[in-house]
This record gives sequence, C-alpha cells and structure tokens, in this order.
Amino acid sequence: MKAIVIEPGSVLGVLGGGQLGAMFTMAACRLGYHVAVWDPDPEAPAHRVATHSFPAPFTDQHVLARFADLVSVVTYEWENIPAELCQALEQQKPVRPSSAVLSVIQDRLEQKGFLASNGFPVPPFAGLTAPDQLANIVRQVGYPALCKTATAGYDGKGQWRITRESDVREVEQALSESARPGMRWIVESLIPFQRELSILVVRGIDGQSCTYPLVENEHEEGILRTTKVPAPGSSAVAERAAAFACQVVDRLEGVGVFCLELFQLPSGELLINEIAPRPHNSGHYTLDACSVSQFEQQVRAICGMPLGEVRLLSPAVMVNLIGDDAAFFMKGAGCQALLDVPGAVLHFYGKPAIRPRRKMGHVTFLGETISFALDHAKQFRRTIRDHLRRSQS
Ligand code: AMP
Repeated sequence: MKAIVIEPGSVLGVLGGGQLGAMFTMAACRLGYHVAVWDPDPEAPAHRVATHSFPAPFTDQHVLARFADLVSVVTYEWENIPAELCQALEQQKPVRPSSAVLSVIQDRLEQKGFLASNGFPVPPFAGLTAPDQLANIVRQVGYPALCKTATAGYDGKGQWRITRESDVREVEQALSESARPGMRWIVESLIPFQRELSILVVRGIDGQSCTYPLVENEHEEGILRTTKVPAPGSSAVAERAAAFACQVVDRLEGVGVFCLELFQLPSGELLINEIAPRPHNSGHYTLDACSVSQFEQQVRAICGMPLGEVRLLSPAVMVNLIGDDAAFFMKGAGCQALLDVPGAVLHFYGKPAIRPRRKMGHVTFLGETISFALDHAKQFRRTIRDHLRRSQS
C-alpha cells in the first residue's frame, strides 16, 4: 500500500520546544506547513515560532486528545520525551521515528545492545542494576571506565569517570544518592579515541536514505563546542561512517533524521558512541552551508516527501555559544564585532536566561577553504576566552 503524503498546509506536531524544535518549525513554515509545538516550558524557544502552542505537561490527557486531533504526523526534537506519550499518539497518528525506535534509542543499554547484536562496533560495555555491583562490572569492562545513567542523560550529564579501583567507592556512593527505583546504568570502557566524529543520515518512508558529510567534533566537559565540516582526513573513514549510518537506520527501520556519534581510534577504526533519533547539534552547519538543512530533511522525511539532494556548498566551522559565552555577543560591541566577521552566520535561540552549560546559540563560519573558516572560528574562540577572563578578574 502506498503511504500517504502529508502535504503543505497540514499541521505537523513536534514534542519538545527547544532550539531543535524551533529550527524544525521554521523549516516546516518555509515549506508551507503549520506546526504544533508541545513543550511543558512556556518559555521554550519553539513556542515563539509555532502556529499552535501547547505549554502543558506531557501527562496532560486533555492536551493529548487536542494535539492528536490537530496534527497529521508527530515527531520529536529529543530522545528523552516519554515513550508512552509517543505510543499513545501513535494509536491515532503516525509518529516518526516510531515509538519502537525511540524505545531502543532512549535507553543506552538497549541501544548498545541493539548495535552490538547487529554486529556494529561499539565500546565494550555492561549493564548495572544496583550500585553495589559497580566494582564487579568495572572489572569485566576494564579500567578506565565511564558509568552513565541508562536513560535521561545528555551533554555529559549523569556520567562518572572511574579511572582506577580507588574511584569505585566514590562513584558507587554518587550512584546510590541519585538512584531511583528501577534505575539502570551502563558501564563503558573509556575509549582513548583520536577524535570524535558524527554523521547525519536521513531515511524516508520508502526506505531510501542519504547521508551528509562526515564532521569532526570537539567537546568540552561533555558538551559540543566546535564542529568542522568536512572532517579532515581519509575518505575511506568517511565512506565507512556513511555505510554504518545507512545500515543502522535500515536495521532500525527508522524514518526521519538520525545522527551517529563516532569515536575514531588511532588505528583508524570507528566505534559508534551513540545514535540520536533527530537532527543534531553537530548538524547545525547544514542550515547555512548545505542545499537542504537537516531540519528541512526532517520535514520531508516525516511527511513522506522526496528527500532533498545533499550538497555541501561551503566548508564550515560551527561554534556553540554556551552559558556566559553568549552574554558578550548578544549586545553592544560584541554583537556588532561578530556580525562584522566575514562569513559568520549568527543564530541565537531566544532563551530568556543565560545559565551555565546552557546552549544559547551558535555561529557558523563559512569559508572558501576550511582553513579560512577555522581561522575565523579560532579568533572568535580567543575573543570569547579573553572576554570571560576580563569579566572574571
Ligand atoms: P554521551 O552523552 O554518551 O554522548 O557522551 C558525551 C561525551 O563524553 C562524548 O562526546 C565523549 O566525549 C565522552 N564519552 C562518552 N562515552 C565515552 C567513552 N566510552 N569513552 C570515552 N569518552 C566517552
């Protein structure tokens, strides 16, 4: 049976109203759709640009009925939304990616189990159901290790490093203090990677998929700082990453945009760290440097439209504006100086308050060559650091 195409003029539903939800909404509007945003936080950025806004808890049954009635299809902007909500919506409207895909991905243990059992390379890992098993489990996985909550962690939150045996007691204590009934953790071998990479893949309802170029990422304290595109280095690595990405979404039978986060070992080997079932921060460059952005692809894929041809129009370096970084550039001389940088494209997410570790915006530096873009990005990072040093002294 031919799947129904959802045409412009229809209402698309998105669960979660952060910056990813806002960028999805803007891409959908450009293609002539309306968007209903459901996010409990009334100040979430996507509410500002939505046609229909539902600032209500995800448990609100009344809103569930109205939302389901209004929309033609549902998607989500992050994986930590309740899977039961997606299951309930799926009774009435298509949810893309499906609730079954979300359930596999939102639990790190399920996700790594799925990847390993399908033959994809992942770091050695084991599950933990009680803090007092920690010493045994780390012995299985080996030192150094990283313990992560199985669900609900992001941007390095809910992670503990265990470098040597003497760390176990402290981490066990931290796990006990934060434990809730039924909670599980995953313990992974800490990988001495050479670099972190990621790749976006889009899969349509007809099973066709396409990938974006491989990108190189730098993190600080578990948060993405900088993305370079295309990732410098061997094309064989990029081809391997693209093959993994297509095979993973095929196995999942996922419909939508996905991102594979990867570790490259010094030998060149790739390990999959994580799958995101949605557009990704490391794909924000696609807004300014590609023929079709990751958000437009999300719209096309969930609506059953043809996917867009992926073309990188310019090398780019994306720099995130996190916490206090943003203060200097949001007003006055800082903002003007930034807008004056050749090839710099500025995005602020319109969040009402600056908080430490909060993603406030990003800048994409475009250039004829990656080194041109990189020079401007480096200069920009230096300006941020100088400013923060001055403001703290
Ligand atoms: P995650 O929340 O799993 O994406 O982890 C956030 C960041 O922590 C990653 O981007 C890596 O920098 C680091 N990380 C996560 N897992 C590992 C691992 N097994 N080995 C080394 N670093 C890791």
